[in-house]
Amino acid sequence: MGNNILQVIYLLASVSFIAGLKFLGNPATARKGNIYAAIGMTIAIFGTIFLYKGPDGQSLKNLPFIFGGLLVGTFIGWVAAKRVQMTAMPEMVSLFNGMGGACAMLISIIEFQHITTDINLFLAANSGGEKTGLLLTIITGLIIGSVSFSGSMIAWGKLSGKVKDRSFPLQQYLSIGLLLVIIFFAYNVVAMRSEEFQTEFYLLLALALIYGVFFVMPIGGADMPVVISLLNSFTGVAAACGGFLYDNKVMLIGGILVGSAGTLLTIVMCNAMNRSLLNVLIGNFGGSNTAAAGNSSSVQGTIKEVSKSDAAILMKYAKKVVIVPGYGLAVAQAQHVVHELETLLEAEGVEVKYAIHPVAGRMPGHMNVLLAESNVSYDKLVEMEEINPEFATTDVVLVVGANDVVNPAAKTDPASPIYGMPILEVENAANVIVNKRSMKAGYAGIENELFYRPKTSMLFGDAKKALTELVSEIKSLG
Ligand code: NDP
Repeated sequence: MGNNILQVIYLLASVSFIAGLKFLGNPATARKGNIYAAIGMTIAIFGTIFLYKGPDGQSLKNLPFIFGGLLVGTFIGWVAAKRVQMTAMPEMVSLFNGMGGACAMLISIIEFQHITTDINLFLAANSGGEKTGLLLTIITGLIIGSVSFSGSMIAWGKLSGKVKDRSFPLQQYLSIGLLLVIIFFAYNVVAMRSEEFQTEFYLLLALALIYGVFFVMPIGGADMPVVISLLNSFTGVAAACGGFLYDNKVMLIGGILVGSAGTLLTIVMCNAMNRSLLNVLIGNFGGSNTAAAGNSSSVQGTIKEVSKSDAAILMKYAKKVVIVPGYGLAVAQAQHVVHELETLLEAEGVEVKYAIHPVAGRMPGHMNVLLAESNVSYDKLVEMEEINPEFATTDVVLVVGANDVVNPAAKTDPASPIYGMPILEVENAANVIVNKRSMKAGYAGIENELFYRPKTSMLFGDAKKALTELVSEIKSLG
């Protein structure tokens, strides 16, 4: 009876994961989606703790350990999520993803110990096919979980500036060699070819952890979110292995959903930057080398500054203003003041929209989440494909802390590292005002010719401070 109820709970939890994912697809319903999926996960966890019965009819033991772990994990997760800055979100996602990989790795270690404690019993109880299937699942979970764990830790270190981008000669060949050795040992353990399969198992664990480091280490800083998304899909696959192992449907479905969502996100991000996954994995874009590879010497000309009062007049008397938010807006926490600017201009009869580039900021959806935080209406956020044709009829574009996503070199300079990346074509508007603190490059480490064009004026200063002053100027115009 208990197990039947548990199966119904698992079904409900699985439906809530799918509904949650669907709702996460739109900023207006994302919060609801998160709550649905969290409720699903909570009932799945408590259903398992209280209703699960093993093949021997026994309930789960070690409840104090389970609840102790739940309490500690919930507390750390809650505090970390409350404290994290929006700009540090990719680091946190990476850290949490690494924990998922570590769980899958530990499950494989524990289950391998279980079945090999009395190897004769295990061999007697399982036919060749069952034995191979079980070991294959454990080893797959071990390798993918370990790579995801160590890779995510390196990604976290790189994003938080604790680990530098590093590659060395023949690195790719060494990685391929390591992968071949891993496959060799994996085959040995699954086939139980040698008496030493215990030693080989732990060697495999160590090699998979080292491979995760090798995999992420040479990848350029700007590509980290793509890699995190890929590692996220690895964790999903490793969790799905756990689902197979325990014949647990909700773990299997959850793992598959994470695996496929992570893969899709990786593809979407690569497409938005117009780069292949292979190029991301070996390209070193946005890493320490990129600044040197940039086109800084080819951009020449003079820049024009605009005063706050002139910018205020230009915007107040415009018919249509498009705001382009970028990473600098997030750093400056200028989302509230930009909303105030928008409301003020709308009160003056100006039509205001936001142009959202798919990779503006440091993770997908960064700008949507940030602007939603300050109650910007979702229908004002316009995706790149839709807003690009509108720039020709826009009087003023205000670029706030964005750089690479408005860089025309992506269209015109085949030598540029961002060549081919779709951009917001702000240069088609009548006037472009760019707010940033200096002439420094963005994440790709390259100069931006847009800043030198005749239609462009620079409004230097920290985004929050500059926009606050701009708002005061517009108000003082009466
Ligand atoms: P960029 O990193 O290109 O530019 C941000 C600009 O903001 C900088 O030039 C900086 O100039 C300015 N800035 C920084 N702090 C402030 C501040 N306090 N006030 C005002 N301006 C500030 O950002 P974009 O959003 O244009 O582009 C995102 C980049 O990240 C792209 O290269 C993209 O490919 C990459 N990326 C994004 C991913 C995603 O999922 N979103 C994933 C992978 C990569 P200054 O120092 O002069 O102020």
